[in-house]
Amino acid sequence: MIIDILTIFPSMVAGPITESIIGKAVTRELIDIRIINIRDYAVGPHRTTDDRPFGGGSGMVMKPEPLMAAIGDVRKNDPAARVILLSPQGRLFDQGIALELSRLSHICLVCGRYEGVDERIRDHYVDDEISIGDYVLTGGELPALVIVDAVARLLPGVLGSNESLTEESFITGLLEYPHYTRPEIFENHRVPDILLSGNHGAIRRWRRQQALLRTWERRPDLLKKNDLSLEDEELLAEAVSTKEMRKAGN
Ligand code: SAM
Repeated sequence: MIIDILTIFPSMVAGPITESIIGKAVTRELIDIRIINIRDYAVGPHRTTDDRPFGGGSGMVMKPEPLMAAIGDVRKNDPAARVILLSPQGRLFDQGIALELSRLSHICLVCGRYEGVDERIRDHYVDDEISIGDYVLTGGELPALVIVDAVARLLPGVLGSNESLTEESFITGLLEYPHYTRPEIFENHRVPDILLSGNHGAIRRWRRQQALLRTWERRPDLLKKNDLSLEDEELLAEAVSTKEMRKAGN
């Protein structure tokens, strides 16, 4: 997969894509991340990429010409590239969108700055607009890295065999069950006995029950979107009643 990142701050994204799992995926050529400096497409002695807003007001706006030229170059080389503007006004990024993007051969992430990009770029030169959350950041570089990370780890071969995607939060429609590692007793806090039992069936059941309980407690909205099987409903009811009994001191 190719991911282009169009930015006026290339060094903001250069470091993170060389580290850890993403860095290894780049080295192993499972993903090709290309950082494109929008300023290289600006003209004039100062290669200016922003200007004052028509109508007045505070802040600057990213000029359309350098963006159009940079996006044009990407499209010329690959008309199939999906050009995505990062914007707090876009559709809200989630695991489903990460999965959707991971199935594409080429995405191009356009990072805004200042008050954002000239509206004509949004209207005529991008295919999609994505927000990473209901808050405003100073630029699209961190959102672009969030998307790169979430998408890259879904690509075949990027995660090692030990890092299974199948049970992760959101992939199953539930939050994932809790994890423990050595030592068995840490500051008087014991690992749940069941995880030390070696009984794989019982461990699977416990994990499913914990995932259901966690989701019920923390993200009931996810449960509403999910049709639980009868077995899941029974597991959840048992977990809730055990928890309530414990709370009541029984
Ligand atoms: N004036 C814009 C508004 O009120 O909607 C905010 C512009 S923001 C300061 C500058 C740039 O940061 C945006 O063009 C976008 O590329 C990026 N950005 C900020 N928050 C974002 C978010 N939540 N998701 C994606 N991109 C974001």
